[in-house]
Amino acid sequence: MFSDTHTHSIYSFDGHAQPEEMCEAAIRAGVPAFAVTDHYDIDGILAGYYPPFDAAGVRRALERAREKYAGRVRLVRGIELGQAWLYPDEARAFLCEQRFEFVIGSCHNLEGVPDFSFLNYTHMPDALISQLFSRMIAALTKCAAFPGVSVIAHPLYPLRYIRRCGRDLPLESFEEPFRELFSVMRENGAALEMNLRGILMGYTDAETEGWIMRLWRDAGGRGVTLASDAHRPEDIGAGQDIGAQILRDAGFTRVVFPGVDGPTHEDL
Ligand SMILES: [Zn+2]
Ligand SMILES: [Zn+2]
Repeated sequence: MFSDTHTHSIYSFDGHAQPEEMCEAAIRAGVPAFAVTDHYDIDGILAGYYPPFDAAGVRRALERAREKYAGRVRLVRGIELGQAWLYPDEARAFLCEQRFEFVIGSCHNLEGVPDFSFLNYTHMPDALISQLFSRMIAALTKCAAFPGVSVIAHPLYPLRYIRRCGRDLPLESFEEPFRELFSVMRENGAALEMNLRGILMGYTDAETEGWIMRLWRDAGGRGVTLASDAHRPEDIGAGQDIGAQILRDAGFTRVVFPGVDGPTHEDL
């Protein structure tokens, strides 16, 4: 099993378990290390439609879990920072104050638009679906330039929900904007996340996820992470065999994990 770079605890509005339960599950699954990366969707939190983030609570819970499970599973205190570019000063202050060991950059929604998972694409015109998708890539590109962000999460996030509505996208037509995103990521040393949740939910597949990973590799991208994006402890490490195969097929030979003392690599 590989280390898992993206998981959610009860400190995420859509998470279910305490970090200690997550450690138990990771040990059972044979996952050597994982990062707890709770949601901090800054625009939603500041606007009050997501609950405030209990930074002190999660810090204490992680410290307790780290102490209790020392030597059995390694734990990284991370954050999934959503929409940082909308509130750059506030996001920077939050990161400075909290000093996370690992920051994932995400785009779950566009400015003033609900989360991509809340939208109904069933009767949406193709052109509008495409426009939302390209705006998401542009947003991720801003996110990749944000100081402190070391991984870009789920680059195909909206596609999960577009396909859930029985719709699709001509992915090839987004190669150029993705290349632009990748060039900013390379400049900033950011890795791309192989997020398994889309496949595990049955909305995307190995071929689709392999497409974006190959594009990253062809663009000179080298850093990749393996992420379950687990919202329940039993999902920690889930789908790693599929993800590792996708990455090998795309030409990657190792994955990166953000250790407390700097990143470590695991051979695929
Ligand atoms: Zn996410
Ligand atoms: Zn997540």
